[in-house]
This record gives sequence, C-alpha cells and structure tokens, in this order.
Amino acid sequence: MTLEGKVALVTGAASGIGKRIAEVYARNGAAVAIADLDLDAANAVAGAIVAAGGKATGVKMDVTSEAEVEAGVAATIAAHGKVDILVSNAGIQIVKPIEEFSYDEWKKMLAIHLDGAFLTTRACVKDMYKRGQGGAVIYMGSVHSHLASKLKAPYVTAKHGLLGLARTLAKEGGPKGVRANVICPGFVRTPLVEKQIPEQAKEFGISEADVIKNIMLKDTVDAEFTTVDDVANVALFLAAFETNALTGQSLTVSHGWHMQ
Ligand code: NAD
Repeated sequence: MTLEGKVALVTGAASGIGKRIAEVYARNGAAVAIADLDLDAANAVAGAIVAAGGKATGVKMDVTSEAEVEAGVAATIAAHGKVDILVSNAGIQIVKPIEEFSYDEWKKMLAIHLDGAFLTTRACVKDMYKRGQGGAVIYMGSVHSHLASKLKAPYVTAKHGLLGLARTLAKEGGPKGVRANVICPGFVRTPLVEKQIPEQAKEFGISEADVIKNIMLKDTVDAEFTTVDDVANVALFLAAFETNALTGQSLTVSHGWHMQ
C-alpha cells in the first residue's frame, strides 16, 4: 500500500478525520493539498507535514463555493501537477428536531455535504479524465449513510445522498479507471462530536455520560469510539487499491455499531 508519486486533495483537512487522513497519506508518499475553510489551520497542518519530511500545501476552500473549489483544485494542480485522489470530507453537524430546523440551516447542511461533494468531484475528475491515468474518489459518509438517528434530519439525508453520488461516479468513471467509494464511520471524538455531546444531553434531558453510553456507543461491540486512525487507515486502503474491483461501495468503520 503506497501512495508514492500520487497527489491527494483532502477537504476539511485542517481538523479531525481529514487531518489524520492527510497525515497518513503524506506518510505513505502522497503530496497532499490540505483544503479547508480555515486557511491558517490548513497551513499549520501542511507545515507540520512538511517539517516531518512530507509534501503538503494549505488551500483555502469553502466547498460550497463553486469559485473557491475551482480555484483550490487549480492551485493544487499548479503546486503538485495533478490530482489522483480526492477525499471529500468537509462537514458540520447541526442537531435539533425537524420542526425546529430553519430552512437556512437545512440548506447549509445539504450545501456543505452534498454540493461540496459534487463541486469537488466535478473539478477533480476533469483532471483525472484528462490525464487518463484513473484516480480514486472517497466520500466521507457515516453510519448515518445507512441508519437514521433522531435530531439529525439534514445530516442523515445528506449522508444517504453521498451513496448515490458515489455509485453514479463509479459507473461513469469505471471505464476511465476512476473509482468512487464511501467510508461510513461511527462516532469519532473530533470537535464535530465533542460539540454534540452537550447538545444531545440538553435535547434529550439526559447526562453527557448517558449520551456517550446510551446513544453514541450503545450498539458498538466494545463500547469504543472509532478513532481518526481507524478511518485514515481505511482511507489509505481505498486510495491505494488499484482496480475497479472495489468501486461503488460503502465501507462501515464503526466498531460493529452498524453491520452491512
Ligand atoms: P471536524 O469538525 O473535526 O473537521 C471538519 C473540518 O471541515 C474543519 O476543519 C472545518 O473547518 C471544515 N469545514 C467545515 N465546513 C467547511 C466548508 N464549507 N468548506 C471547507 N471546509 C469546511 O469534523 P470531523 O469529525 O473530522 O468530520 C469530518 C467528516 O467526517 C464530516 O463529513 C463528518 O460528517 C464525517 N463524520 C464524522 C464522524 C464523527 O463522529 N466525528 C462520524 C461519521 C462521519
């Protein structure tokens, strides 16, 4: 499993899961574009990778902006020559019952998770198709690509939607050697999840310890959180896998919470 000579663009790579994927990709030989809303944080991640002997650049990218996505992918190609691997990972969470969601909140969630996946895919596959050397597109889904939970209507809707995008790209990209897969993690203790623990405790009227024990980890086989390394190692496997034998799939990484 090597990514030597490959170029990866990872969105939302200034924090959490995306950051660890970028680090693991760089450690395995890829040049990595750290694309994020937060350019200072993206540059800090890129700087640490470079200091450790890897290749990385920070890229300012709001994945909901067509212009920023196009410019960010162009900057990645200018810096590293191409894009072989896209990890569409940027995401946020908003938890509340359906009747309390504003229309703006609903649209914001779908824009980041779905429009962002579309815009980055379109920009990157154009380069992959043009060069004719194939590529790998990985979407950060969730166990919520397969299951629903209360309070997460737009997130569950968007994460289910990514399966459709991945399967369609798998069909269109297959003849050109471009593979598309979805990683579906269980709960990982990133800032995105840390924020939810008190929010869910308040909405359900239970303690934070009970949110962890009775909601987040209830159905895992070992009462363990999934880790950023668990997810990054699967992202490495999917990026390095060389044939269309593995495309259009979703791989659940959740300590047995959801078994497909
Ligand atoms: P995180 O909050 O640690 O990191 C998310 C990153 O995305 C941040 O750096 C943020 O600046 C960036 N971002 C947010 N909006 C953006 C935008 N519009 N454009 C570009 N960047 C933007 O979160 P995380 O937990 O690492 O989540 C990463 C992905 O993993 C998300 O898609 C999330 O839905 C998914 N996921 C997370 C978990 C979990 O338990 N943490 C589980 C399943 C799936």
